[in-house]
Amino acid sequence: MSVKVISVLENILQANDQVAAANRARFAAAGVYALNIMSSPGAGKTSLIEQTLRALAPQVRIGMINGDTTAASMDAERGARAGAASVHINTGGNCHLEAHMVRQALDALDLSALDLVIVENVGNLVCPAGWDLGVHARVVVASVTEGDDKPYKYPTMYRGAEVLLLNKIDLLPYLDFNTDYFLQGVRLLNPAVQVFPISCRSGEGIGAWAEWLRARALKHG
Ligand code: MG
Ligand code: ZN
Repeated sequence: MSVKVISVLENILQANDQVAAANRARFAAAGVYALNIMSSPGAGKTSLIEQTLRALAPQVRIGMINGDTTAASMDAERGARAGAASVHINTGGNCHLEAHMVRQALDALDLSALDLVIVENVGNLVCPAGWDLGVHARVVVASVTEGDDKPYKYPTMYRGAEVLLLNKIDLLPYLDFNTDYFLQGVRLLNPAVQVFPISCRSGEGIGAWAEWLRARALKHG
């Protein structure tokens, strides 16, 4: 007797890719540029979104989709206070966002009134990288407090990114973070990635990142 093998994960990922393609088409139809921001917990995703809003709004009209594992919506509220049309997704314990969750959030946003949608993924350096959400650019936020070995330990996350933001650089004088070693790991995995060293606390580097993003968000609009 032969054994039939069904790859459940493969089927689930194929279904996800179809929904992601539909999300991509919705963004395109509305002329909206979209980001998927990923990092470990505490690297500064929400602070980055606040700083980005401060730099770009209201010229760039921004929506925020915040994914978290619980109903705690304080991050989405921070986005709303900073001026974003804001939607919170409670993943119910799921450790990453999937395309169908973003689709539901898009139903709650008026895309015709936006230039840019920023998706804040669940804080996790592993599986969010495996799920296409239908965005234009995947942005990884690394913070110097996490250590300089992260590209070597989480290659999939670093390999798939269009942009890498190295956050909390104001703390470098107090840490043994070897920036050259970190960037060497990044470049081995992903030679084309755009790197912006930033500090959401001091504002250093936010201008360069915001200009990169402004050009794209307004070109799509
Ligand atoms: Mg957050
Ligand atoms: Zn997960």
